[in-house]
Amino acid sequence: MCVTFGSGQSLPITHIGNTSLNNSTTLQNVLVVPNLTKNLLSINRLTNDSNVDVLFSNNYFNVQDRKTGEILARGICENGFYVLTQSHKSLVVVLSASHLRAPFNKWHSLLGHVAFDTITTLNKLGHVFLTSLLPKPGLCNSCELSKAKHLPFVENNKHAQQVLDLIHCDLWGPAPIASTDGYLYYVIFVDDYSRFTWFYPLKAKSDFYHILIIFFNFVQNQFSTSVKVFQSDGGTEFINHRVQNCFQEHGIHHRLSCPHTPEQNGRVERKHRHITETGLAIMFNAHAPSKLWVDAFTSATYIINRLPTKILENKSPFEILFKQPPSYSNLRISISL
Ligand SMILES: [Zn+2]
Repeated sequence: MCVTFGSGQSLPITHIGNTSLNNSTTLQNVLVVPNLTKNLLSINRLTNDSNVDVLFSNNYFNVQDRKTGEILARGICENGFYVLTQSHKSLVVVLSASHLRAPFNKWHSLLGHVAFDTITTLNKLGHVFLTSLLPKPGLCNSCELSKAKHLPFVENNKHAQQVLDLIHCDLWGPAPIASTDGYLYYVIFVDDYSRFTWFYPLKAKSDFYHILIIFFNFVQNQFSTSVKVFQSDGGTEFINHRVQNCFQEHGIHHRLSCPHTPEQNGRVERKHRHITETGLAIMFNAHAPSKLWVDAFTSATYIINRLPTKILENKSPFEILFKQPPSYSNLRISISL
């Protein structure tokens, strides 16, 4: 591929990719042309991707905010070329905010095919900015294929008082297809206080003990407190000498949910359903093969931890756990073959 100039000369494009102006700003689909001596900015892309207008005069130009008219950057005309001169700090701020601006369908897809009312909530809270109105219902094939129902969660508001007071855990598998790295199982740990979820893939059920130790070391070090109560069903991965000794050594009370009352494990069961439905929707949307299920489920968990929920008074598990709202500007559809 080449870039052709007005003079008829063309120069080869060696790469297409994203680059950042600073830590928080990414310019997308940037063409790398090594033989070009100046960096060129497309006015069409700038005015489409960001909420700015560009006003050209005979010897200068201004980049200004489309709504307020505030001048964000200036440039001059040199030998027939318009050159950005003034420090473009304010332009950088607008460009980074523009990554949060997207139509409803784009956010629906970036957030793992989330229910439309969650996107409306994020918009109201100012975490994302919608550039389109609500689409017609039933428009998304991926949602229908993953049979995601997005049922309102019927859940009581009771929860633990502190982080790590109560951890819910469950293990699923074997998956019908091994992942690219040979994983067949996965385990999730849900913190009852924040509803934050940790997802770990496993190659065999017997790897659970090792993962449990990794999880305890990680959370206890990160949050400077220890797990008090650990709730699970009576699966053999939990009821064996090694795991029981581990609970004893760490002073953890192991609470078993009763065999015939799965609702006692409801919190972790609902998380599991949410992760699989979201993960499958991401895979259908990306036309990804089944062996990428670990990548899809990891992304789903990442997204779900960042979605506001009514149970947490429209805050996300991330915000409860880390006491600050998450950033939504770095979400990309990243499943690749
Ligand atoms: Zn969808």
